[in-house]
Amino acid sequence: MKMTGIEYVAHIDMDAFFASIEQAANPCLKGRPIAVTGIGKRHSVVTSASYEAKRLGVRSGMPFFQAVKLCPGLMAVKVQSRKYEYVSREIMKMLSGVSPRIMVASIDEAYVDLGFYTKLEEALKSFIKFKHDLKESFGITASVGVTVNPVLSKIASDYSKPNGFVVVKKGLERAFLKHVPSGDVPGIGRHTLIKLESMGYKTVGEVLEEFERNPLRLYTAFGNSFLGLIQSLTKNSFSREIFFREEPPKSVGHSMTLSVDITGRELVMRVANFLAARVVYRLGRYSMESAGLTVHLRYSDGKSRRLSKRLGSMISSIKDMTEILPWMIESIWKGEAVRAVGITCWNLTKKRRGQQLSLFEAKRNPLETALEIERKFGEYSIFPGNILFLPEIRRVEKPSDLHYQGFCRRQVSC
Ligand SMILES: [Mg+2]
Repeated sequence: MKMTGIEYVAHIDMDAFFASIEQAANPCLKGRPIAVTGIGKRHSVVTSASYEAKRLGVRSGMPFFQAVKLCPGLMAVKVQSRKYEYVSREIMKMLSGVSPRIMVASIDEAYVDLGFYTKLEEALKSFIKFKHDLKESFGITASVGVTVNPVLSKIASDYSKPNGFVVVKKGLERAFLKHVPSGDVPGIGRHTLIKLESMGYKTVGEVLEEFERNPLRLYTAFGNSFLGLIQSLTKNSFSREIFFREEPPKSVGHSMTLSVDITGRELVMRVANFLAARVVYRLGRYSMESAGLTVHLRYSDGKSRRLSKRLGSMISSIKDMTEILPWMIESIWKGEAVRAVGITCWNLTKKRRGQQLSLFEAKRNPLETALEIERKFGEYSIFPGNILFLPEIRRVEKPSDLHYQGFCRRQVSC
């Protein structure tokens, strides 16, 4: 798609993502200092802290016992990764309504190409609506930064968190950076920051002035890559085709840790077939086929076995997979109790015949139909029939504790 409108790019970052989801889901946690963490482990680390805890100095990555010293009333909430992944996917889908081209940078961050708009005001209106919908559906907030340089957009989204909305019009980049603390630049780590401050540069504005006055001093102290980073801040344009370019994946895999160990050939094969189908669906989404297959099994005693094979022919269908998988599994599995299974396709190439068939054509490829159903109803809305009698899989794959409206409306049962 041609994106020839305005030159701006937005960076969007959810505010205290995991902690906000927990607070929105449980009214008892609202307005209180909470830390999302792996409960029950002696050395748990804070994965996400609410703003009430952040105000007292609690940060992500901090050991929980240290966080409690800073914030004695801190409440620990158990981390629930599947729930956050699910919410993230739904939010990214919602964000596709702002612009057809987005780049997901992490579970709670994305860049949005605004070249789809011809006026900045229209793009900003869409973001106001997005922020409103986000609050309505999930009870959380996000911060948005809009500039003509992706690095600056990231700095801008961070500038007035939480629930921030910072727009830096083209030409005003220097004025904006003048008061931004050096430590807020992505890529400037703790050691560089200490050194910068000891040399008297507290803000990005001061570093940029020195860069223009005496670049050699900065080069001698911090090296070439630091200068590259500083230079990238001064750019007031970016190549959107390069920045938003989609790299084809090098491998596609799915793995699953089961909440009970499974034994028996038929059950192990069902799980493997389910994962194989997921892998084939994803290959199909990229219109790719594979000439390499890896099967990975982890047993109840924690030991694992892996087998990788370079194949003589290409895999692109569930049928191809089910012909090879039993043989591969049986060469590494001797009846042990299985805890986790993983299937990965690698050595990927673009399919030569990637034509789209019509829904009404008699010879329609079943994979095309499956992909269409998934596009419409979401991932995991279609399963191979032979795993229907395995409730275990459905339990571990679906988020079970999503109990407020925003989720229920979107959940697809199978
Ligand atoms: Mg965030």
